[in-house]
Amino acid sequence: MAKDYYAILGVRPDASPDDLKRAYRKLARQYHPDVNPDPVAQEKFKGINTAYEVLSDPKRREIVDLGGDPLAPNGGVPGGGAGPFVGFQDIMDAFFGGTTSRGPRQRTRPGSDAILRLDLDLDETAFGVEAPITVETAVLCTVCTGAGTAAGTHPASCDVCGGRGEVQSVQRTFLGQVVSARPCPNCQGFGTVIPHPCPTCGGDGRVRTRRSLTVKIPAGVEDGMRIRLPQQGEVGPGGGPPGDLYVEIHERPHDVYSRKDDDLHCRVSVPMTAAALGTRLTIKTLDGEEQVDVRAGTQPNSTMRIRGKGVPHLRGTGRGDLFVHLDVRTPVKLNAESEQLLRDFARTRGEEVAELTKQGGFFSRMRDAFNGHP
Ligand SMILES: [Zn+2]
Ligand SMILES: [Zn+2]
Repeated sequence: MAKDYYAILGVRPDASPDDLKRAYRKLARQYHPDVNPDPVAQEKFKGINTAYEVLSDPKRREIVDLGGDPLAPNGGVPGGGAGPFVGFQDIMDAFFGGTTSRGPRQRTRPGSDAILRLDLDLDETAFGVEAPITVETAVLCTVCTGAGTAAGTHPASCDVCGGRGEVQSVQRTFLGQVVSARPCPNCQGFGTVIPHPCPTCGGDGRVRTRRSLTVKIPAGVEDGMRIRLPQQGEVGPGGGPPGDLYVEIHERPHDVYSRKDDDLHCRVSVPMTAAALGTRLTIKTLDGEEQVDVRAGTQPNSTMRIRGKGVPHLRGTGRGDLFVHLDVRTPVKLNAESEQLLRDFARTRGEEVAELTKQGGFFSRMRDAFNGHP
């Protein structure tokens, strides 16, 4: 029966090379003969070493995964398997903490956030809506579940950097030798290469896809606000945890109302006569039609405030107000009858009235126009 090398290292069969290395270092610190002279511990250390040698070699690991034992006499290790002692660098790292290098980059990294613009009408931002959205992000590759490897294969340690993810170069300068490290160009700093990439994702562990979601927009949101949908962003390289999705609200301009915070503003024209005599207007609000009284003697640029007919407050209760700005319109063209009526009207109020001159212009006899007659 084949030995369970995974159980010896205490890792799962889908452990990554980094997981193996971590497990090995932890056990080495515990059972290495230098720190643990117990003969049982020494036996155990040998087993740990063997298990790590086998599993950190992708070819041998494949044999293990197929149920074989690469160290058995008929195990058949292609290429002989008489490589250097795999664990040496790792033993150094286990005791000295690998302080000389930052170590290889993780293939699995967190994904980034995504942002999506959502155009809404005023009644949707005011009262809330469940909006369907289409999101295009990277999602986990279901074929390799993020590993990036073709079925039944594993990443292999990089030959160029020996799995460290960086290569060192020594330069002679007049100050002496300068050692610099840079990411390994062969493995891009991962320390491993993927000899057989997953055909679906090409080794990235994720694929781009379109999804449909429904986002709940609360009542009272404003233009430019962002709704956060946790973990609906981009899945990271190597199937890393997804970032968040932000839905940015854009409020379409309304043809009647302009919005300022939670208050709404609109302009309504009233004829001069209605402003003078008073009238009743029918105003279309977000909630339907509303009757408002314009009192007699209303001045140009007056504003009427209809309380509680604005946008609901996002936080707390209550609503903003609706402001109706009145444009008092003076008649542009007067027929003879209207003109006569206005002249008579002015005369009853003791107002001086401009006379039309022969040249077609006005000669005003109104001396103090700016003091006016209210
Ligand atoms: Zn894949
Ligand atoms: Zn490399």
